[in-house]
Amino acid sequence: MDAVNIENLGKEYGSLKALSKVSMTIDEGAFFALLGPNGAGKSTLINILAGLTRATSGKAAVLGYDVRRQWRKSRYKLGVVPQELAYDPFFTVREMLTLQSGYFGLGAENRPWLDELIAALGLEDKVDSTMNHLSGGMKRRVLIAQALVHRPPVVILDEPTAGVDVALRRQLWEFIRALNREGHTIILTTHYLEEAESMCEQIAILDRGRVVALAPKDELLSRYSWRHLRLQLTPESAVVLPSTLEQKKEAAPQGELLLRLHREQDHIGEVLAALDQAGVKFSDLRIHEPGLTEVYTELTEADNHV
Ligand code: ADP
Repeated sequence: MDAVNIENLGKEYGSLKALSKVSMTIDEGAFFALLGPNGAGKSTLINILAGLTRATSGKAAVLGYDVRRQWRKSRYKLGVVPQELAYDPFFTVREMLTLQSGYFGLGAENRPWLDELIAALGLEDKVDSTMNHLSGGMKRRVLIAQALVHRPPVVILDEPTAGVDVALRRQLWEFIRALNREGHTIILTTHYLEEAESMCEQIAILDRGRVVALAPKDELLSRYSWRHLRLQLTPESAVVLPSTLEQKKEAAPQGELLLRLHREQDHIGEVLAALDQAGVKFSDLRIHEPGLTEVYTELTEADNHV
């Protein structure tokens, strides 16, 4: 069973196509990153899955339940941690969670689970504080707890670490990792690409409403053809390069040489031999392998240049 199945999903706001023919499946138990620049359509997609927005065309299902025709069931399978900190300022933490439990038809029998969530998120000292007395980080924890009151197997986190300090970010990641280990499917949007790279196995990149990449992370990274060789030149080094290498040169601070090399066609050994022959001398050498940032930039900027 797919955790999420999306087929040819489209959403139009007047003449604006927020989503165009978006298709993807997310496996049960996956740790999935949904990436893309502002306006790419990530929130629209999340809102459609949560039943808050209606798609113009296509369909989507959560654990087999159509988000429109079987809204109640699909919504029950889904926990959404919103990006914005929206809450009633005068409710206490416990009231927030109890109320949310009630929306899912859960009463006192759910209290042990709420207590577990409160403990897991380090909210014990705050259960009786009203929301307006909590720090931003604490509010974010409450919103995460709130999304989990009904133990949803699929959890969407919309930029959970935006504006969160390093310590809390680390705690949140640990908590989210633990959820995933317990079998929850995690779908994450983030602008911190290094977080997506270290946490997620599957990556989708949206750009202006279209899927521009959808692949396991390793496969996506291996598709990128370039890496960089950076040399710290010594004062006696020659600076004139043979024309084959001159073409590969990129802007670098004085005293450094930066070459953009093709991962398959440019053999490091041959490049170093050519540099040696040209009299290029260096005291240090570093190879920078591409990461998600490079792949993302290439995919989301490629068509901006047209
Ligand atoms: P993201 O979450 O990736 O930043 P959104 O899904 O919020 O992107 O937005 C996708 C596009 O749809 C944007 O161009 C945005 O301006 C537009 N959009 C989103 N919601 C609405 C709405 N309610 N009415 C009109 N346009 C909208």
